[in-house]
Amino acid sequence: MSDGSNTGESAQGWEFSGEITIISPNGFHARPAAILVKTAKKFTSDIKLVKGDRRVNAKSLVAVMGFALEQGDSVALEASGADAAEAIKALIPIIAGDMENGAPSVAQTAKPAESAKVPAAKKETRTRNEADRSLFRGITASPGIATGIVKHITRGDIAVSERPAASPEEEAADFRRAVDEAKSELASIEKQTETAIDAGHAAIFGAHIEMLDDPELTGAALGMIATGKSAAFAWKSAYKAQAERFSGLSNELFAARAADLNDVGRRVLMILTGTQEEIAYTQNCVLVAEDLTPSDTATLDKRVLGFCTVKGGPTSHIAILARSLDLPALVGIDHAALGIKDGMAVILNADEGTLRINPDPAEVERVRGNQEEKSARRARDLEHTMEPAVTKDGVTLEVAANIGGTSDASQAASLGCDGVGLLRSEFLFLGRATAPSEDELADIYIKIAKTIGRDKPLVVRTMDIGGDKPIPYITQDAEENPFLGVRGLRLSLEHRDMFETQLRAILRASEYCGLHIMFPMVSTMEEFREASSIVRRVAGDMGVSDVKIGLMIEVPSAAILARHFAEEADFLSLGTNDLTQYTMAADRGNPKLSRIADGLNPAVLAMIKSAVDGARGKNCWVGVCGGIAGDPAAIPVLIGIGVDELSVSVPAIPQVKARVRELSKAECERIAAHVLSLGSASEARDYLGKNTGVKQLDKERQ
Ligand code: PEP
Ligand code: MG
Repeated sequence: MSDGSNTGESAQGWEFSGEITIISPNGFHARPAAILVKTAKKFTSDIKLVKGDRRVNAKSLVAVMGFALEQGDSVALEASGADAAEAIKALIPIIAGDMENGAPSVAQTAKPAESAKVPAAKKETRTRNEADRSLFRGITASPGIATGIVKHITRGDIAVSERPAASPEEEAADFRRAVDEAKSELASIEKQTETAIDAGHAAIFGAHIEMLDDPELTGAALGMIATGKSAAFAWKSAYKAQAERFSGLSNELFAARAADLNDVGRRVLMILTGTQEEIAYTQNCVLVAEDLTPSDTATLDKRVLGFCTVKGGPTSHIAILARSLDLPALVGIDHAALGIKDGMAVILNADEGTLRINPDPAEVERVRGNQEEKSARRARDLEHTMEPAVTKDGVTLEVAANIGGTSDASQAASLGCDGVGLLRSEFLFLGRATAPSEDELADIYIKIAKTIGRDKPLVVRTMDIGGDKPIPYITQDAEENPFLGVRGLRLSLEHRDMFETQLRAILRASEYCGLHIMFPMVSTMEEFREASSIVRRVAGDMGVSDVKIGLMIEVPSAAILARHFAEEADFLSLGTNDLTQYTMAADRGNPKLSRIADGLNPAVLAMIKSAVDGARGKNCWVGVCGGIAGDPAAIPVLIGIGVDELSVSVPAIPQVKARVRELSKAECERIAAHVLSLGSASEARDYLGKNTGVKQLDKERQ
């Protein structure tokens, strides 16, 4: 932002911002635009977003998105009305911030792929392999392999008559009824998605409801109805025109929103025209479609094993939903795939980005065999998931869950978690225009605490935001290296009020669980001491005495000095995702560096050992909550080094418990000592493959 704070005022009561520059590398697209619009709607003033000589209604999502603002673009805000000044003040930071990196974008709110093993989606649309006519290539939207038979999903155009059947007033009333009905359908899909996945994904449908509240979109339809067009014709023209505008935009994220608009638009149109659409699913089907709507994806039948679409990108909502549902999926598949006959046998290998038709029966057999073995093992693991994870020589490991919210907590409890090793609490702070209140936070923490129960630990990590995950209601200077900037505990200590509000909310849950408070991104003892004394003071004021305080070890300095931290902390938890990126100087989000950023590198393992050794004999337990806790290759090494707890993604709990039961601590100690003596991650993985049969397990289980 050049100078967003210099709001100005003219004699007529108009307020305007200075020029605001978009800094987010992804531009200003759907999610921040939705937040801007939602916030703008809270004010009674007339608010315009201005770019050059164009001004649009800042309360209209489609109008704001229609600007297709890219990084470096400049805009301004104008407002007139009683609360114009407050409106401008509230809206500037939303435009000036880097909301996408801060918002709970799919990947962040999705049940996190703990070991970050989702293959990096390639941006370019691949074309069909000329040498092999039976192979179609696409872009990985969600990894996995499935063998099944093709089922096409085609959607015919819904024909509408331009001539109205009734008066403009009646057509307008019909239109409003249809919009209301669509909104209530979307609200129930939102609820369903929240139960099946989580609130972050359910928000996609909340955004769809917002689209139906959009004054420009509904206004365009009502305007045409007033000129004598039928409601269906007017609505279809209005949403199609807007969707076409979006899909023509160069920014992939904007273009992906065309799918959302078409989804919402068609829903209303079906209601208006009384169109019924039932998909005749078949057993073990792999869907092939020009496009799927987000609501199709969220409500897919259990018989669907995976899908491929010609349209859509890896950042589209269908890709996000597929990852959360654990369904192999390709987007951007060669158009010729639409010509594959219904019922044809295929292997969808989303890990490799391919769809093979008429596969060799031996290949199908092999994939089926693997799948069957995998599900049989899953079923076996599941049978014992409520039992503790005890090694062959009698050592018990706590297998806890990494969770993001209430629905994860119930799933974790039903899978026999020994507690929650990491509640990523920041999701409640991201993707919104104002800070959550203490009551709002406490409500969620108490729900989670009651679900996990009094006898199990609940480790709540204080908000890990800032830097690469900025929030609009906090002013932060732009940073050249956000991963090395003011994030995690550093940010909390700079924003005491917000930190203390969160602490009070967390502490209100203490009577329902074994409460542990954990700080992220700690690099010095001073930070830890300062934060701990704030917790103790707030707890004292509230009369809470029973709270454990610990920290994440995710910065090399904290790993090396762990013996000092362990003197004062009740527990340490190794955040190996960040610890690996900082030890290896390799961005954890950069797929090109994934070989370097391997947590099994002996340098990272040495950091882990330093933490475990440092805590020994000090009444301070040590857990691992980063991705390698769920990596079957790493588990014997971690046990051998001597960690007390493995905190893993919820679905991995049964497998991780089963893996622990296959091992003996004494043998793990020998394995760990050897691996720590090696010089590279590949040597470590080779050794583990040969000595623990883990390579095979690794492939099958991840
Ligand atoms: C980690 O860094 O390992 C960790 C668990 O925290 P996050 O992945 O949320 O940064
Ligand atoms: Mg981390």
